Amino acid sequence: HPACFKALVLVTLSSGSLVAYSDSQSETDRVSRDLNQKEQKKKKVVVLGTGWAGTSFLKDIEVSSYDVQVVSPRNYFAFTPLLPSVTCGTVEARSIVEPVRKIIKKRNGEIEFFEAECVKIDAANNKVLCHSNLDENLGGNGEFSLDYDYLVIAVGAQVNTFNTPGVKENCYFLKLVHVMQEVEDAQKIRASVIDCFEKAVLPGLSEEDRKTFLHFVIVGGGPTGVEFAAELHDFIQEDLINIYPMVKDLVRITLVQSGDHILNMFDERISSFAEQKFQRDGIEVSTGCRVLGVSDKSLSVKMKSGGEVYSIPHGLVVWSTGIGTRPVVRDFTEQVGQGNRRVLATNEWLRVKGSENVYALGDCATIDQRKIMEDILSIFKAADKDNSGTLTIDEFQDVVDDILVRYPQVELYLKSKHLMDVTDLLRDPEGNQRESVDIEGFKSALSLVDSQLKSLPATAQVAAQQGAYLSRCFNKRQQCQEHPEGPRRFTGSGHHRFRPFRYKHFGKFAPLGGEQAAAELPGDWISMGHSTQWLWYSVYASKQVSWRTRMLVVSDWTRRFIFGRDSSRI
Ligand code: FAD
Repeated sequence: HPACFKALVLVTLSSGSLVAYSDSQSETDRVSRDLNQKEQKKKKVVVLGTGWAGTSFLKDIEVSSYDVQVVSPRNYFAFTPLLPSVTCGTVEARSIVEPVRKIIKKRNGEIEFFEAECVKIDAANNKVLCHSNLDENLGGNGEFSLDYDYLVIAVGAQVNTFNTPGVKENCYFLKLVHVMQEVEDAQKIRASVIDCFEKAVLPGLSEEDRKTFLHFVIVGGGPTGVEFAAELHDFIQEDLINIYPMVKDLVRITLVQSGDHILNMFDERISSFAEQKFQRDGIEVSTGCRVLGVSDKSLSVKMKSGGEVYSIPHGLVVWSTGIGTRPVVRDFTEQVGQGNRRVLATNEWLRVKGSENVYALGDCATIDQRKIMEDILSIFKAADKDNSGTLTIDEFQDVVDDILVRYPQVELYLKSKHLMDVTDLLRDPEGNQRESVDIEGFKSALSLVDSQLKSLPATAQVAAQQGAYLSRCFNKRQQCQEHPEGPRRFTGSGHHRFRPFRYKHFGKFAPLGGEQAAAELPGDWISMGHSTQWLWYSVYASKQVSWRTRMLVVSDWTRRFIFGRDSSRI
């Protein structure tokens, strides 16, 4: 450093030791040369997004090796699994968010953060174009650009309205439509539920009007829609009907689902447990219905079986169906020749196909599984030593074990009752035990798995594991370049010389209200009821990003147990 250098010169001159001076000068030169080289070697990494994937990447990336810049319109990380609890005031919004600057401060402040939205990725010139709402004068129109050596796209997904008329204008969402609104929307839902009650008790209304104001409709019977319905039911039954007793008999909650069952990505036992619980609680579940349009007063719904169309009056609609593509991702899929894809296809090392230095993770990406399918087939063929095209049951069982060790994510599908049970392959159509499994049967079973493997589930678990995996790869990159022969586990061909990403599934929960939950745990364990709710509390408390949010969330739960939820409309 120049100041140290000057001080060193002064000290050495005053001591009169010219030899010492020239030694220290060359040492200082060497140190500053090394520093410069290191600075020059530092590659620029731009990260888009501060959700599950982006934050988990930032937590581990080695800042001494990279210049890291983060762009996101949200200057906080939101713990999305607790968003449904925010909609009813079980947990406060501020308890589930952590400022990004606090997260990156732990990395010695060497990561730069810009509150802006990336509007375009210019892959040809390694640049991203960003827009900030905070200063419209910036660059004349609020825009600036950043260069990168590596780009990490972790912008998540947005709600899919399936272009249904009136949805954007008349529904509330738990997944954002616009880039910034996830937590704000959850707060708006809470205020609107209370508004509906206040409207329903105004004088001079007909009973029909009051009923309409108090009819809450949820579209989408996936985990988020079901959890919201359960939270809303608890909020109404435990808190609101005590303060609005005059309308307690007029309240209705309806869950509209296009499939035949709710929670159909869960085990059958869980989905029927949830349906029975909702029936007991008086939550109406309308399955096999497609929403044709939504107005400010009603929804138009078509029965898939009979085709009849009917109208449902509502006071509030929460739309919680599948996820769609962000515009910046859609544009980039076209640039890299992946047009028409909903999410970016990556290889197993999370690098975007068709690009050399761009990575995509979380909800905006999917690992192209074609290679996995080829590998699985070659495991079968390798076991078929006499090339007969068949394996004995024992040989086949070994093949399945081998597949599951190498590709644990396949287990979800191989064992899932909705898709393919391995035992189906082991029995003939009459149900008798087969003596061998033939490759054609295996191939057709694989094609079923293949169609389901196309994407990992869009969950926080996947996104966080991908972020942590990618930062580990980045941190080891330099080591691999300096020692190409490498420690054994990093050798091998391919772009990265790292082990590909492997998803570890730790199970999934479905809170069902009334202090009950259901869970699918690793090893095909199914757990349902009150004890599962306590497991849910402990898992979600332990998964909080900081001690601050952990304390706030636990104290919110305790406050709710003692005093109930707050129903003020603020
Ligand atoms: P996100 O977490 O959505 O983060 C995307 C980030 O990118 C955000 O910071 C956003 O502001 C930023 N961004 C957006 N556009 C741009 C842009 N143009 N430029 C720069 N930045 C941009 N998963 C579970 O595993 N368990 C659960 O219990 C669970 N519950 C859920 C409940 C709800 C209500 C919701 C909505 C989701 C839930 N999920 C759950 C799913 C989980 O939240 C997502 O899978 C996860 O958030 C995906 O992480 P991500 O990093 O890909 O995207």
